[in-house]
Amino acid sequence: MLEVVGLSKKYGKTLAADQVSFVVPAGKVGILLGPNGAGKSTVIKSIAGLLRFSGKVLIQGQDSRDLEAKRSFAYVPEIPYMYDALTVREHMEFITRAYGVELDEDELKALFERFELWDKQDKLGNELSKGMMQKVSICCALIIRPKVILLDEPMVGLDPGAIRELKALLIELREQGCTILISTHMLEMVKELWDVTFVMEKGRIRGSYAREDLGNGDLDELYFSVTGHEQTAEGNGGGTWEQ
Ligand code: ADP
Repeated sequence: MLEVVGLSKKYGKTLAADQVSFVVPAGKVGILLGPNGAGKSTVIKSIAGLLRFSGKVLIQGQDSRDLEAKRSFAYVPEIPYMYDALTVREHMEFITRAYGVELDEDELKALFERFELWDKQDKLGNELSKGMMQKVSICCALIIRPKVILLDEPMVGLDPGAIRELKALLIELREQGCTILISTHMLEMVKELWDVTFVMEKGRIRGSYAREDLGNGDLDELYFSVTGHEQTAEGNGGGTWEQ
């Protein structure tokens, strides 16, 4: 379970996240949805411990700053970062050692094959394309078997095959009880994945919705009616408004 309580973050005078609160229940997929600049990355980076913020984040009931909480979650950044001097395989070895997790060869092979990295495992970090880096970054997050996983705009930069594999993997993770938070502005990519959605705009959560709140589960309609970016729908779709 992931709980965010009154999270606020300022960059100078810019209030990028303003009292953001939401809960992704255990084994569910939460979507942080909003236009560019809404504050999604700021929230994700704060949860991941990369930014100082005010408020509270609980991962599996523990403060996100605690070591035990850090051990149980993984983060896939929007812009992947690779170590130039490590090979693809060495990235996996490094991350499992850092998390104190056994590197399971079968699991690694299955992951590399899914993301077409098996024949690229000896390539160095600086020899990879952006899409390949993104795939390595996803594999690094998955190999530690996280209980909670955060993905910031994970579909951007991936080819269609990798997007399909990622979606399938996320569904498998959910079935195994993993709690997932995805930030995105690409409605199409998360349509069949989501359980709860938080629509964010100008640093605030404008509405929180469970799939069962929406008869047809149509995220497009919900998004445009909440943000007013395109007048395609009347009303609020029956969800809970927080503003
Ligand atoms: P999103 O991920 O939804 O596109 P961000 O969290 O990246 O939104 O940005 C939210 C707001 O914070 C924007 O107004 C952005 O310009 C600002 N912002 C983000 N990062 C920084 C930074 N490092 N310094 C100053 N302002 C920032």
